[in-house]
Amino acid sequence: MTEGSLPPVRRPLPDETTLERELFEAGRRLADALPGTARNPIAAADDKAMALASQDAELKAALFRFVDVVPACRSLDDLARHLTGFLGEVEAPPPPVAVAMRMGNTRAGRTALGAAAAAGVKHMAHRFIVGESPKAALGTLRELWKDGVASSVDLLGEATVTQAEAQRYAERCDTALDALATAARGWPERPALERDSAGPLARANLSVKVSALTPLLRPDAPERGKRDAADRMRGLLRRARDLDAHLHIDMESLDSRDAVLELVLELLAEDEFRAGPSAGMVLQAYLRDSPQMLDTVLDWTTGAGAARERPLTVRLVKGAYWDHEVVEAAQHGWSAPVFEVKADSDRNFEQLTRRLLDARPALRVAIASHNLRSIAHAIAYDHLSGGDGTDLELQVLRGLGDPLQHAIAAQGLRVRTYCPVGDLVAGMAYLVRRLLENTSNDSFLADQAKGIPLEQLLAPPAVGAGR
Ligand SMILES: Cc1cc2nc3c(=O)[nH]c(=O)nc-3n(C[C@H](O)[C@H](O)[C@H](O)COP(=O)(O)OP(=O)(O)OC[C@H]3O[C@@H](n4cnc5c(N)ncnc54)[C@H](O)[C@@H]3O)c2cc1C
Repeated sequence: MTEGSLPPVRRPLPDETTLERELFEAGRRLADALPGTARNPIAAADDKAMALASQDAELKAALFRFVDVVPACRSLDDLARHLTGFLGEVEAPPPPVAVAMRMGNTRAGRTALGAAAAAGVKHMAHRFIVGESPKAALGTLRELWKDGVASSVDLLGEATVTQAEAQRYAERCDTALDALATAARGWPERPALERDSAGPLARANLSVKVSALTPLLRPDAPERGKRDAADRMRGLLRRARDLDAHLHIDMESLDSRDAVLELVLELLAEDEFRAGPSAGMVLQAYLRDSPQMLDTVLDWTTGAGAARERPLTVRLVKGAYWDHEVVEAAQHGWSAPVFEVKADSDRNFEQLTRRLLDARPALRVAIASHNLRSIAHAIAYDHLSGGDGTDLELQVLRGLGDPLQHAIAAQGLRVRTYCPVGDLVAGMAYLVRRLLENTSNDSFLADQAKGIPLEQLLAPPAVGAGR
């Protein structure tokens, strides 16, 4: 480390009773800081489709299939035909859905229904996507920053299947880094977002996906995909270093996990990136072998990566591809690589949170979750082990964590919101993933929306309310 003050002296590790007490207080402070309607984010978001869908698996499946075909529809009539077609598969539709299906019987009704459906999908997409281009997103990013919320921009794109698409994605990332870094220079000072005990933190922050940087990332030939992605990734790392921006590499499904991890650790250990840029990767706590992956990263910090001047940021998430991993494993007759009981993912998330926080200052830690218990656990553990929040970053997703980002900022803690940028078509896969997650029976946000009391929401995973 070259800059910054010394990290705080660590206290002896807390006992579980003290930790639970502190965690409950931190969770209650956050819950109290949420605006009234936001304690029930799904119902408050006025998209009743989501609330309805979460109660009815068949309806949910029909709506997801519908959301998928929206970008391909040529007219409002066409859109309504698809909607009534999908809804027609639901055996006992709830009353609002039955009304929609009756409207689909006439051409005028179909046009009206199509317009309402198109507006509904757009409205929902705009909740999760900050703008159609990085330039269009700059106003929102500046407002967030002014409110004490940092951001990481994610450029949505369709699956990369050709070299030309991969090249185009790399160029879009390059342009976005430039636009973000230039605009961020004019943002007002926000000390909590700009410095930790390891030194300055970049204002401009971009999240990228390796699968979009190469069409060759396949589990059966990982070296080819890695080599192909490496050239484009090097270009982005150079650009981020020159602009003093942070580059974060997202994690996707397990079939690319090892290649992505190796690629990131190998590139960042290269001499030319010793002094920068600031960079990060993602650890997925739903994976049973995630503790071993953390061992690999920690070994790297004392081995090949030891000479780096900026600590690697590790963003801890639960993982966004749970259904995919379970189905993929079942199809091959493999045992699932992910935990199958939600409480197991939650417990592992807490264990990894502790190991990551204990590993500072070799790493920078970002805890990404909308689950009050998971967040409060990180805040409490940091505090009881001698931290004052400076070396803990909390991260949320745009659209799911909007009220939470303000509640976290109001505590003086550093929060970063992951902000997807792109058009509706590019955003569909992202939107469907968020909707799936949000309406799942195992989702914290769905539990919160049901009005489950805070004591239960903050209870330890093993004895939580069926979670
Ligand atoms: C800033 C940010 C960046 C992110 N980046 C990535 C990324 O790069 N890669 C990525 O994969 N995800 C990423 N995610 C998404 C993340 O993995 C989660 O999907 C999402 O945050 C929901 O988890 P939660 O803690 O908010 O909610 P919770 O409701 O507490 O947890 C939901 C999660 O629990 C897990 N789960 C659900 N059901 C079960 C079950 N039956 N058994 C075991 N586990 C189960 C799943 O992972 C599910 O997403 C990111 C999230 C944020 C906030």
